[in-house]
This record gives sequence, C-alpha cells and structure tokens, in this order.
Amino acid sequence: MSFDPANHIQDLQYFGEFGGVNPSISDSSTYTFLSAKTMFDTFEGNAEGCYLYSRHSTPSNLYLGQALAAMEGTQTATVAATGMGAITPALLQYCGAGDHIVSSRTIYGGTYAFLKNFTPRFGIETSFVDITNLEAVAAAITPSTKVLYCESVSNPLLEVADITALAELAKKHSLVLMVDNTFAPLSIAPHKLGADIVLHSLTKFINGSSDTMGGVICGSQELIDQLRNVNDGACMLLGASMDSLRAASILKNLRTLHIRIKQHSHNAMYLAQKFEADGLKTVYPGLKSHPSHELFSRMMNPEYGYGGMLTIDAGDLETANKLMELMQERNLGYLAVSLGFYKTLFSAPGSSTSSEIPLEEQAQMGLTDGLIRFSIGLDNDIKRTYEMMRQCMVEVGVLS
Ligand SMILES: *Cc1c(COP(=O)(O)O)cnc(C)c1O
Repeated sequence: MSFDPANHIQDLQYFGEFGGVNPSISDSSTYTFLSAKTMFDTFEGNAEGCYLYSRHSTPSNLYLGQALAAMEGTQTATVAATGMGAITPALLQYCGAGDHIVSSRTIYGGTYAFLKNFTPRFGIETSFVDITNLEAVAAAITPSTKVLYCESVSNPLLEVADITALAELAKKHSLVLMVDNTFAPLSIAPHKLGADIVLHSLTKFINGSSDTMGGVICGSQELIDQLRNVNDGACMLLGASMDSLRAASILKNLRTLHIRIKQHSHNAMYLAQKFEADGLKTVYPGLKSHPSHELFSRMMNPEYGYGGMLTIDAGDLETANKLMELMQERNLGYLAVSLGFYKTLFSAPGSSTSSEIPLEEQAQMGLTDGLIRFSIGLDNDIKRTYEMMRQCMVEVGVLS
C-alpha cells in the first residue's frame, strides 16, 4: 500500500472556537488552572490536555505538530522556532559527554558547524562520512555511537541517502536514525522507510512563503514527551519554542504544500532536462545521470516528483556570480539563500550556505566554487523561464 502524506494531512479536521474553519489561535503565553492540584500534576507531566506555559506547548503548536506528524506518519511531533531549533535539541536529547555521532558529511552548513565545532565542547564527537557508501558508514560506528544522522536529499549536492539500508544498520547497532527531510517533503517519507526521527526546517518548502522560520521533530510519543519534559527536556530547556501566531500561519500554508511541491518538481525537472541537454553539468535526482536516480525512484511517492532543488556548474565563482546577478536583474529569481519560495532562489553554496565547510573538504566532496544551487519556483510558464535563463547563460559565456 502506498502512503499518501497529503491525504493524511487532509483527513485531520479542526474547528475554531466559534465554529471557524481555521482553528483558533492561542494568543497567550500562560494558562489558568481551575485547581492548584492540576497545576502540580501538569508540571509532573501527568495532566493530559492541560496547557501550562507556551514554551512547553500551545494549542496552535499542537495542531501544527499533529499535521506534520500525519504527513510523516509518525506518532506525534513537536514544532520549534527554527529548523536548527529542532535539530539541535533532538541531537542533544540523545547524546551527552562521551557519546559519538555518525553523520553524513554533506549536510546543511549550520548542522555541520554544530556537530563539528559546538558539540565537541560537551564531549560529543562526530565522524563525518560519505553517506552513500554504506561500508564507510558501518566502519565509522563505534561502541559509543548513539545517532546516525543524514539528510534524505543532501544540501547542496543532492546526494540521496538509502534510508532503508541505513535503518537496518541503525537497528543492528541500536542507533537512532535521524533524517532531515527539508529538501524532500511529501516526495520522501523517511519514517515509513525506517527512520526513527524525521526533522524539517519549516522555513523552506513547508511554509513556502519565506516570511517566517520554523522547525519540527517528528517521532514517537515517548521521545516528544522527553523533549518537552520540564526537568530534562532539550526543547523545553533550550527554549527555541515556536510562537502560536506563526504556528497558525504555517498550518494554513501547509494546506497547499502538495500542490506547490508538484509544481516545484515539474518546473525543476523541465529545467534540469533542458540544462543537461544544453551540455551544462546539472545535478538533479530526477535525471537518469544522477548517481542516486534509481534509489530516489525506489523510495519516493511518485506523484510529488523529485523536488525543487537542482544545481549547475558555471565553471568558476566569478562566472557563477555574474550569471546570478544577471538572472536577478531579469527578474528570473532572487540571489538569496534559503529555498521553497514561489520565486526561484539561487546562491553559490561554496561561498555562502556551506562556507562553514573548509575549502579542502568542499573540494573532496565535489562542492566546486562555480556551483549554483537553485530552488526552482512556481513559475506558470517554465518554458519561457528556461528561454530567458538560457539567454543569460549565453550572455555570461556559460553557453554559446
Ligand atoms: C535551512 C535548513 C536547516 C536549518 O533550518 P533553519 O530554519 O534555517 O534553522 C536545516 N536543514 C536543512 C536541510 C536546511 O535547508
């Protein structure tokens, strides 16, 4: 049976306080209790359905968490103020001094910096591996390893993790498999493939309007309760809680995610095929030339396509910059980091979002300085967009 995440979201039904078609927003930082006893029980974690203080949870945040859990097929989920505000407590909940993490080496720059530079201060060590090389992953596991960490589709190189195989490996060594699914919402359902925890930056495709930040941790009820525990929960104590107004607005945007993802994927596939045919070095998981095309095809929910992210190599940084500036001048997109906007966004990851990664490591992993990362927008007439982009490429000398 196939798993359609959009149906799961659609099947949830919430009403507002006065019968509104959207749930009411809980515009409060704190909550009253009818009895002092209930307040005590709530602090002990024993009063199901009672709200205590908004850093812990809010009705609006629970609605959004529920919808995202339905999308990923996990028991439950908890939202956070940013993607990093979800990733960092999830890792810290499982790892303390003396523990070890095996992570993909091609991950979001912020996550990489956290594992490489920040967690060693707490005695947590990370080995970075080529996640597509399962032998290398297995070889990096030690008796202290607690977590296996990767992105379903990696930033910025679009490497695809074999989640089924990684889940087997994790199970064999009693590790927690955490998958950041920010690049492939709906297309890939990591929990259905065996991941224990699914993370997202909601800032990207899921919210989709580049007007707010957000994050989510999807997992078991037991884990989410632990994360929110008032005494030792990393989400509760580190405090990157989402605001209810934002949770309500992200939930509204989530309603159109399936339509948007189909259009992002359609447009990205069209451009990737054209760019490749023009002779550009193009990386897109939907292309047969992509080393993980078969793997992605096996794991995906086909109707959502291969996602909205692609990269091309413009040769060198100077040409890449010229091309991006010209495309922005012609209003084909914006020279900006981030992804999942209605408008195409482009940036050169080597000098921006992945600049945390040392240059020699960038070279090793194939992150060349002429690489341009595109988050393809929702353009209605992608053929017209292609023709205009091609013209820019000719003008800067990337194509003749
Ligand atoms: C943006 C991003 C993050 C971080 O999310 P923020 O909302 O910026 O904190 C994590 N992982 C991936 C893959 C991302 O693209």
